[in-house]
Amino acid sequence: MTQQNSRIEQFQKMAQADPNNELGHFSLGRAYEEAGRDQEAAAAYEKAISLNAKLSKVYQLLGGVLVRLGRKDEAISRWTEGVKVADERGDTMPREEMVKLLRGLGAPLPTIKSSSPAPATGEGQVMCSRCGQVKPKMASAPYSNAQGKMIYERVCADCWRDWIHMGTKVINELRLPLSDPQAQKVFDQHMIEFLCLN
Ligand SMILES: [Zn+2]
Repeated sequence: MTQQNSRIEQFQKMAQADPNNELGHFSLGRAYEEAGRDQEAAAAYEKAISLNAKLSKVYQLLGGVLVRLGRKDEAISRWTEGVKVADERGDTMPREEMVKLLRGLGAPLPTIKSSSPAPATGEGQVMCSRCGQVKPKMASAPYSNAQGKMIYERVCADCWRDWIHMGTKVINELRLPLSDPQAQKVFDQHMIEFLCLN
C-alpha cells in the first residue's frame, strides 16, 4: 500500500513538473487505477488523451474505469473513438479489445477500415507505431539485442529522439538507478508505453 502511494506520488510529481508530458499522466492514471482510485484515474487518462489523442491503449483503459464508475455512455463514446484511433494506427490488439468491450455493452460498432492496405513504406522508412506515420528509420538499431531490433523496425527516428529526451526525464524524475534490474524494468515499461509498442 505504501509502495503504491509512493508510486502515485512519484507520478504526481512527474505530471506536475512536466504537465505537457502525456506519459506522466498516463502512468499516474495506471497508478491510481491500481490503488482503486478510479475517479482520479479517469481524470489522469483524460488528460493524457487531451495531450496526445493517438494513445489507443489509454482509451481502452479509460473506458474500463468509466464503466466501473457507472458512466457507461462515456465509456462507450471513449471506446468508439479508441477503436477508430487504433484502427488508423494499426494497433490491432487495443482495437480488438475495445470492439469486444463495446459488444459486451451492446453498443454499435464503428466502421473499421483495417482491411485497407497499410501505407507503403519505402527504402529506409518505417510505419511508426508511435506517430502512426511513414517516416525515416533510425540510422541503426538503438540496441544490439532483440528489443533494439524490434524498436528499429517499428519506431521512426524522430520518435526515438523524443524518447531519448523523455527517457532522461523519466530517469531524473523517478530517480531510477539503472544498475538495478528492477529500475531497468520500470524504465523499459515507460519506453514501451511511450513508443506504443504494447
Ligand atoms: Zn514516429
